[in-house]
Amino acid sequence: MATINDNYLKLKAGYLFPEIARRVNAFAEANPGASIIRLGIGDVTEPLPSACRDAMITAVEEMGDRSSFKGYGPEQGYAWLREKIAAHDFQARGCEVSADEIFISDGSKCDCGNILDIFGNDNAIAVTDPVYPVYVDTNVMAGHTGDSNDRGEYDGLVYLPITAENNFTAQIPSEKVDLIYLCFPNNPTGATATKDHLKAWVDYANAHGSIIFFDAAYEAFITDPELPHSIYEIEGARSCAIEFRSFSKNAGFTGTRCAFTVVPKTLTAKAADGSEVELWKLWNRRQSTKFNGVSYIVQRGAEAVYSTEGQAQIKALVGFYMENARIIREKLTEAGLQVYGGTNAPYVWVKTPNGLTSWDFFDKLLHTCNVVGTPGAGFGAAGEGYFRISAFNSRENVEEAMKRITEKFKVA
Ligand SMILES: *Cc1c(COP(=O)(O)O)cnc(C)c1O
Repeated sequence: MATINDNYLKLKAGYLFPEIARRVNAFAEANPGASIIRLGIGDVTEPLPSACRDAMITAVEEMGDRSSFKGYGPEQGYAWLREKIAAHDFQARGCEVSADEIFISDGSKCDCGNILDIFGNDNAIAVTDPVYPVYVDTNVMAGHTGDSNDRGEYDGLVYLPITAENNFTAQIPSEKVDLIYLCFPNNPTGATATKDHLKAWVDYANAHGSIIFFDAAYEAFITDPELPHSIYEIEGARSCAIEFRSFSKNAGFTGTRCAFTVVPKTLTAKAADGSEVELWKLWNRRQSTKFNGVSYIVQRGAEAVYSTEGQAQIKALVGFYMENARIIREKLTEAGLQVYGGTNAPYVWVKTPNGLTSWDFFDKLLHTCNVVGTPGAGFGAAGEGYFRISAFNSRENVEEAMKRITEKFKVA
């Protein structure tokens, strides 16, 4: 009989969101009249910018005409899109990233997982705690970990706690790690990293020959002009960092699918024979073999993000969610809660009051206010005692949810 990849059996059975759904459904059944507001979801709610829609409609028409029809595109993505990304997202910020170091893809989630294809199996891997679960689960699937303990921590991973006590910045590890996942602005905590903090990581990585996976999916939500948007704003990053970017959150492409990964040509890692190999070559080989590019139509939609109208429209879109975040912060503070994040990220990270666990607080908010959020413990052991509220929602829902919380949820 065929055998399976046994590493999949080590995965915890997608506990967080099914458990949320179970509790919400049970509550809804017992209270059929309750109008439940969901502020737990990490998905956008506003429609696509018109610049992107118009560009995609034009592209569909081109595909319907023999003279402008396109078959397979370049696996790396069309040059006209990569050139705009390089100029706008990197060179305009003083980062030395060229168009041929950019790989267009159908998502950062996919890229974060796929990137492991080009790395060895004996790397020491560090993740923050709490963390975006994709980083952990893809390493489990690849056989880079042992089993998990009752705190949900996998043997073989180095967990770097990020909590209020360390201002949500992971302490540089004392041991040597080879691969480091950093996500700033952070999901789930909404925390950001200063240039000095990233510089410390870049220096560590260059000193140890480590590679940083820098997930900048939320860079568009940065409002503080002092904060870096890209790790390549940090000197030395071209020899130690891969950056993941996505159109999902800045332009509402979660259902449209377009993202990109930057692999500098100056980046190397060691082969079994001790030689240094360019990671760009391996990633290019991997993508050319296992990926056939993003649809022409969608890449035209993504290109429109860089037009004058597109830029104005995504600014308004991000501004809309950030006003939600401001309202959430203000009202939760009014209700006596301690809040973090939400000023440079679409997530507000709430300290649960009176020593409640994340799940106790979840139940309390659901039962007293009929509002759903995400228990911090679901993102890692150090997320216990915290709770994530997402700013991705309609203004009406945000205002109503916050009204209920300020009226009914007074912290003693
Ligand atoms: C939403 C999100 C992404 C984007 O993923 P896509 O596959 O591009 O939609 C990447 N990283 C984090 C942490 C996210 O929350």
